[in-house]
Amino acid sequence: MADKLTSLLSIQDVVLADGAMGTSLFSLGLSNGAAGELWNLEQPEQVASVHRGFVEAGSKIILTNSFGGNRCRLAFHDAADRVYDINFAAARLACEVAHQAGRDVVVAGSIGPTGEVLEPHGTFSQANAKAAFVEQATALKEGGADVAWIETLFSEEELTAAVEAAEDVELPYVLTMTFDSSGRTMMGIKPSDAMGLSKTRGWRPVAFGANCGIGPAQLLDSIMGLTGVAETADVIVAKGNCGIPTLGADMLPRYDGTPEIMADYACLARDAGARIIGGCCGTTPEHIRAMDQALKERPKATRPTYDNIQQKLGPVRITDGNEPDNRRRRERRRQRAS
Ligand SMILES: [Zn+2]
Repeated sequence: MADKLTSLLSIQDVVLADGAMGTSLFSLGLSNGAAGELWNLEQPEQVASVHRGFVEAGSKIILTNSFGGNRCRLAFHDAADRVYDINFAAARLACEVAHQAGRDVVVAGSIGPTGEVLEPHGTFSQANAKAAFVEQATALKEGGADVAWIETLFSEEELTAAVEAAEDVELPYVLTMTFDSSGRTMMGIKPSDAMGLSKTRGWRPVAFGANCGIGPAQLLDSIMGLTGVAETADVIVAKGNCGIPTLGADMLPRYDGTPEIMADYACLARDAGARIIGGCCGTTPEHIRAMDQALKERPKATRPTYDNIQQKLGPVRITDGNEPDNRRRRERRRQRAS
C-alpha cells in the first residue's frame, strides 16, 4: 500500500505544506536558546495551536515539532534521555490535529541535523549519527508520523545516516537540503549534485528538495537546479524562508516576506516544477493562506526564467550553473576577470 503522502501526490498536482514551527513558538513566548521540542511535553496545547493554524490556512502536510529532537541536540538542554517521549509526543500532537481536520493531512516527522560535524570533516561517526536518527525516527513512527521529513541537511555523510535510519525503521522519507548564498550546501554540494547523489545511492525518497537557506529567490534558484536534472517521476519540494533573515534587537531573526511575496514564490516554485510547496522560517498561517489562494487562482505557467524570478522575488545572486543566462553571465565575468 502506498504511503499517505504518495497517495496524496497521486491525486493532486501540487500539495501545500506548512510554515515555520520555530518562529511560531518564539512568537508564543519560547525564549531564545530554549528547546522548542520540550514544549511537546510542557506546552502541548501551544504546539497543537501552531499545527491547527497551518491546517486551517490550507496546509495538507504538517511537520512535527521535532526538528532538533535528536539526542545530540537535546543534550544541550539536559534532555538527551527524553528523545523518545519528546518525539512520540510531537507525532501524537500533529496526528490529533490532522485527525480533526476533516480531510487528509499528512503528518511528517521532522528530523533536522545532529549539529555535530561528521567524519571525515569532524570527529562524530556516521554510525553515531545513524543511531541518533534511528532513535528519533522510531519514536516519530510509533507516535503516528506518516513519513520522516529529513530537512536542513548539508553533508553527504549526515544525509546518508538519516536515510539509512529511515529505511531501517521502515518509514517512507522526504529529503530536503539547505543551500546557502553560494548556491551550495555548507559542505559544498550543489542541488544537481545532491539529486545525483540520491540516485546513485539508490535512495527512494518520496520527495526531494530544498528548504531554509537565505530567502525565497535563492530557494527558487535551488529548485531550478533540482528540477533541471530531475526525472518526470521525481517529486520536488520547495520550502523557502519568508524573506531574508535579519537579526532583531532580541537577537531573534526577523523575516520580512509579505503574503504577496510568498504567493509569488509559491507560484514560481510550482511553475519551476516543485510539487510540494511550503514555507520555512518566518512563514505564518497568513502567508500559507495567500500561497494556497494564489496556487488555486493562478494557472500554472511555463518554467520561469531567472529574470522572471528576480523581477518578483529580488536578486538571486547565486546560480547552480544550469541556466544559459547564468552561464553567459559567468562567462562574461570570467572574461572580465582575465
Ligand atoms: Zn528555515
